[in-house]
Amino acid sequence: MLNGSCHCKAIKYEASADILAAYHCHCRTCREIHGTVYGTSVMVHKEGFEVTAGRDIMSAYESTPGKKRCFCSKCGSHVFVINQAMPEIVVLRLGNLTPGHGITPTHHFWLSHKEPWYEIRDDLPQSQEM
Ligand SMILES: [Zn+2]
Ligand SMILES: [Zn+2]
Repeated sequence: MLNGSCHCKAIKYEASADILAAYHCHCRTCREIHGTVYGTSVMVHKEGFEVTAGRDIMSAYESTPGKKRCFCSKCGSHVFVINQAMPEIVVLRLGNLTPGHGITPTHHFWLSHKEPWYEIRDDLPQSQEM
């Protein structure tokens, strides 16, 4: 079982530890949404995922049609993504998970959007898009 929360802990969720993918995404949207040089995400099955606290203060932003990015309206943390195009999947933010999850990202995606000043210093596979 994975547990995660926003920074202020008002929103909490749990998810099955049966993860589908974990990766660093260098796309421009992830950079802007996270305010970082890339975003690190974890895909899990929607079955087994549950928001256990803070549903009432969650807000959502549709970054692309059908793709809702859910945030804490108190602290501003981006907590997960639901996408109409992949209704059986929830995309979590690796940084929101309670430490000790044991997940290690395995790919870099969207190298075509990567900041030129940022140098990747690991040997993980890289893709120009997703
Ligand atoms: Zn919060
Ligand atoms: Zn991205």
